Amino acid sequence: MKIKFLGATECVTGSCHLLNIDEYNILLDCGLYQGSDGKENRNSEIGFNAEDIDLVILSHAHMDHSGRIPLLFKEGFKGRVICTKGTADLSNIMLIDCAHIQVTDANWKNKKREEKGLEPIIPLYDIKDAEESLKYFEGYDYDEKISILPNIKLIFRDAGHLLGSAICEILINEMEETERKVVYSGDIGNVNLPILRDPTPVSQGDIVIMETTYGNKEHKAVEENLHQLVEIVKKTFEQGGNIIIPSFSVGRTQEIIYALNKYVEQGELTHCKVYVDSPLAKDTTKIFEKYEEYFDSDAKGLIKMGDNPLKFKGLYFTESTEESIALKDIKEGLVIIAASGMCEGGRVVHHLKNNLEREECAVVFVGYQSEGTLGKKILNGDSEVKIFGEEIQVKAKIYNLEGLSGHGDKKVLHNWLKGFKNKPNTVFLVHGEGDSINSFNREITSKGYKSVIPKKNQEFIL
Ligand SMILES: [Zn+2]
Ligand SMILES: [Zn+2]
Repeated sequence: MKIKFLGATECVTGSCHLLNIDEYNILLDCGLYQGSDGKENRNSEIGFNAEDIDLVILSHAHMDHSGRIPLLFKEGFKGRVICTKGTADLSNIMLIDCAHIQVTDANWKNKKREEKGLEPIIPLYDIKDAEESLKYFEGYDYDEKISILPNIKLIFRDAGHLLGSAICEILINEMEETERKVVYSGDIGNVNLPILRDPTPVSQGDIVIMETTYGNKEHKAVEENLHQLVEIVKKTFEQGGNIIIPSFSVGRTQEIIYALNKYVEQGELTHCKVYVDSPLAKDTTKIFEKYEEYFDSDAKGLIKMGDNPLKFKGLYFTESTEESIALKDIKEGLVIIAASGMCEGGRVVHHLKNNLEREECAVVFVGYQSEGTLGKKILNGDSEVKIFGEEIQVKAKIYNLEGLSGHGDKKVLHNWLKGFKNKPNTVFLVHGEGDSINSFNREITSKGYKSVIPKKNQEFIL
């Protein structure tokens, strides 16, 4: 068996790992590089021959894990994409949206290039490519043993990170003496998140590939962060401002709605208007409602009592661009949740432009901000940021509720690894930057784990 690390090496985006078992080539995820620090340029070179791939195992529907699957098909891949049912449904929305962004981006860049007399660039893929690839997605249940290739089986366990997100257990030569298990963590969820269950512990594995997004940080408890959010909303409203929450349309947005639902219905938040300004969020919320079986016990309890936790008085979904633009004229009393989560495009950028210069407003980050993104710059305390070519002063209050992140903190990661009764032969660390991945590596090495931080394109024979 061989494994080659093609992406998310010493960074958090572009997840893609190639497993070679007997004559079979299996890809674990095929995600996009994101962030405006040049990493995006890596997207066009996938680094292997797409026709040689037999199968893709997809851990979850986030773009940094799935966003290059249409490109894979465009380059000649003809196999199946195996994922959970929830991931298959979410991918239907998200990959089409991503294709749309690719095309719009390329058109915008080409206008600029034409002015400079440069050759046009071709989008990574278009909507047709995305639609074509989606025909090959196969959704399965959690905990089901799936025969994917001769002598290779797969089980998805709930990763608690996003609806449908999975930890992938790959069982090789199961009936023979040489049985081995590769465990790919995908993204490991936070504990006590609204709606989602906690990540599933895994007790056995020979080779482990795990994420380290927050390998050096401890989050505040989710409950504490939610209280803080309510206080921020109250205070900002008193001061006559709006609250902007940059959030992925898929996942984090539904969790925030769920949390606000509770405070509105308990009467703690009054006269609160929440606008979910994303054409994607409405469709996604419908998918969430379809998968109540994946919810944690609290959310299931509310539904049993007849309360839909994703609906409340004062919650609005805007779809058209006109509705979105109209929000510009409302100066106070709004909570606007809009994508993208790292402020790298999407409607949130317009809302930031309209509200960042007003000191009575607030921006609340609820997810990871990667290096080089606009979100990271605002979070870092830059007093001025560039938006649509204009210098915008940052006067609004900036809050970081990292505890609402979909990623477990270092404690969650350590606990998950401790769940293995015997130490795995090798733990490969991916999906982490700088001190986060390095300090996690140091800590587990000191506890006797054999761990490796693979470099891009590094291959290991196991
Ligand atoms: Zn993710
Ligand atoms: Zn990820």
